[in-house]
Amino acid sequence: MVNRSYWESIGYLKNPDYLIVGAGLVGMYTAYFIKKNNPDADVLVVERGPFSEGASTKNAGFACFGSVSELLDDVDHYEKERVVETVKMRYDGLALSRKIFSDEAIGFDPCGGIEVFNGQLGVLFEKCSSRLDEANDIVCQATGIRDVFSIRMGNPSGCKGFTHYIYNKEEGSLNTALFNRALYELCLKHKVRFLFGINVNKVNATNKVVECGDYEVISADRIIVTTNGFVNDILHVDGVRAVRNQVLVTEKIPGLDLKGCYHMDCGYYYFRNVDQRLLIGGGRHVLGQPEETSEMATTVEARDLLTEFISRHIDIDFVPKIEYQWSGILGVGTDKKPIIKEVFPGIFIGVRMGGMGVAISSLVGLQLSELVLKNN
Ligand SMILES: Cc1cc2nc3c(=O)[nH]c(=O)nc-3n(C[C@H](O)[C@H](O)[C@H](O)COP(=O)(O)OP(=O)(O)OC[C@H]3O[C@@H](n4cnc5c(N)ncnc54)[C@H](O)[C@@H]3O)c2cc1C
Repeated sequence: MVNRSYWESIGYLKNPDYLIVGAGLVGMYTAYFIKKNNPDADVLVVERGPFSEGASTKNAGFACFGSVSELLDDVDHYEKERVVETVKMRYDGLALSRKIFSDEAIGFDPCGGIEVFNGQLGVLFEKCSSRLDEANDIVCQATGIRDVFSIRMGNPSGCKGFTHYIYNKEEGSLNTALFNRALYELCLKHKVRFLFGINVNKVNATNKVVECGDYEVISADRIIVTTNGFVNDILHVDGVRAVRNQVLVTEKIPGLDLKGCYHMDCGYYYFRNVDQRLLIGGGRHVLGQPEETSEMATTVEARDLLTEFISRHIDIDFVPKIEYQWSGILGVGTDKKPIIKEVFPGIFIGVRMGGMGVAISSLVGLQLSELVLKNN
């Protein structure tokens, strides 16, 4: 039996009305919206890390809704209406976050986005340039904004070795640290309870309890799982798989002239200027099978691949020192839409956030909270 005092039991470990597993952006937004609409409810978020430790604090901070090559790839696989819906969710999700927080609070910068093409991507560029109107039409249907994408020749600012690029006037970036912090503080303001360092081993759907390692069993009438790529560790959910993405941040680079959010090859590579350092990530399509994992490790292969990319495409005349390398886990599936549903009576999930989860996190949290409250 765990050595718990009466006070710990009635204070920290009291069974809540709503128990959320995972303090990423989706878990926190869900908690916030439940409290906002039902202030008397007791909402507890349990998180295994010392702070939110999933993709939400490991990402690149692109406030994006899809590059031309990604959108056209999606149209080739799904119905156009579905792609429009996905873009709309990303765009509206970003707008909702910017309504809740000031741009300053989350470090939002309307810097624009740039999709770059090198000689090896000639066929992809042909496809994107010949179908640019189609991509613009998708975005216009989703957002009401015309001619978001435009084609330019040569290298964008700060780059070398590219033949063309497509400028996206509506994309932006945000500061991932500020965003997570602001949302956490908003939750505290609304009296959401948090318990960090609680690793949930299993969600027992029949008894409506979560079993937490050496700790207690916590039960609630409503259990909401927002562990995204890690969901299958604790609850079986079809259609979600974990994949890893690795990121490097260099030392400060004087004169680094990148302006905006840069993507390449359907978003598989991405880079930007962060505090005068180069942040670069991705390459999962080249790294292959080893990145099909939920293990949060870093590899030499990813570091070498991204370092080589820097030498080939960043317009600087030295090899910068890599000062940070990390990995994060995405929840993906063949369908790009998130899964927001009640999977067993009283057990809800909000997962499969894909590569643009920063954008959609607010709307997923809102929709999930509405579903949970509707089923009270
Ligand atoms: C490297 C990388 C770059 C990205 N770049 C971008 C970008 O630029 N723009 C963009 O829009 N999106 C980006 N994404 C995607 C985006 O970050 C995610 O889609 C989004 O953060 C998912 O949020 P979430 O709350 O659903 O999941 P997460 O942030 O993963 O949160 C899940 C939480 O659950 C916790 N947890 C997991 N298992 C347990 C357990 N058993 N018990 C207790 N707690 C548990 C985790 O510690 C974590 O805190 C990127 C992702 C990665 C990995």
